[in-house]
Amino acid sequence: MRLMEGIDVLVSEVGPRDGLQSIDRVMPTAAKLAWIDALAAAGVREIEVGSFVPARLLPQLADTGEVVRAIKARHPALHVAVLVPNAKGAEAAIAAGADKLTLPLSASETHSLKNLRRTHAQLFEEVARIVDLLSALPDGKRPQFEGAISTAFGCTLEGEVPDARVVALAEKLVALGCDEVGLSDTSGYANPAQVRRLVRAVHDAIGPGRMTGLHLHNTRGLGLANVVAGLEVGITTFDSSQGGLGGCPFAPGASGNIVTEDLVFMLESMGLRTGIDLAPLMVARRFLADALPGEPLYGFMPDAGLPLGFRAAA
Ligand code: ZN
Repeated sequence: MRLMEGIDVLVSEVGPRDGLQSIDRVMPTAAKLAWIDALAAAGVREIEVGSFVPARLLPQLADTGEVVRAIKARHPALHVAVLVPNAKGAEAAIAAGADKLTLPLSASETHSLKNLRRTHAQLFEEVARIVDLLSALPDGKRPQFEGAISTAFGCTLEGEVPDARVVALAEKLVALGCDEVGLSDTSGYANPAQVRRLVRAVHDAIGPGRMTGLHLHNTRGLGLANVVAGLEVGITTFDSSQGGLGGCPFAPGASGNIVTEDLVFMLESMGLRTGIDLAPLMVARRFLADALPGEPLYGFMPDAGLPLGFRAAA
């Protein structure tokens, strides 16, 4: 895949979506574009730039269509990802020219009803509708379609989520026609042993090529440990957010998503190429800080600086 050419791990930046939707302030479109420009200049290859949900639900992301169009025009090679809650959102995403559509589906049906106000059966119908929409597009114009299983490692409403339920959902999403399945630790419940176990179980069921990405949160400080566990079982894409933007609503002082700067630093230190340069990544962080004055940003590497003699992976 061209996206992985010359790199070992794809760091997928989700700050403009996951980060911005978690704060009350609305970042003006021009500032979003400048921030995304700076991220792309640092070598970030995939960015989730927004979500096609009704503006009244998430005013922070109301400009997603405009952002997708502007970013595709400015960075044709950048893989522009968006969240789509349903077929209507997918239609808008396709019209705007997004490269990747991700439909979130919660492993916990309680969470699904509360968050997306849909049962699993209703979401499967949306998935089938989206697959129909995509099938009608000509080759080369068809965005990638991922079904993302959220609360895969545990749920704030239901507690433990059985592995078998996640595996069954992954099988169902592939059977319906998703290109890929992703696992999300929405609530920051995952531990490394669990990551290895659940990734292996899903790979056994649908094949390693259909599940290459993890969306991890750092709510309880295990985000990077969980990344290492994922690497050990063949995961090659990790979502993260610059500055851990948005923080974590349940744990003051903790980042929500894992911090992009720390993730890139760890991977490069381990000899794994990300294609991302840390110096311009810190420039992008400044864009973000300037656009949202006073908003807490997280990260150990940004605070401590690079170790003496640090060398990026070659
Ligand atoms: Zn998230």
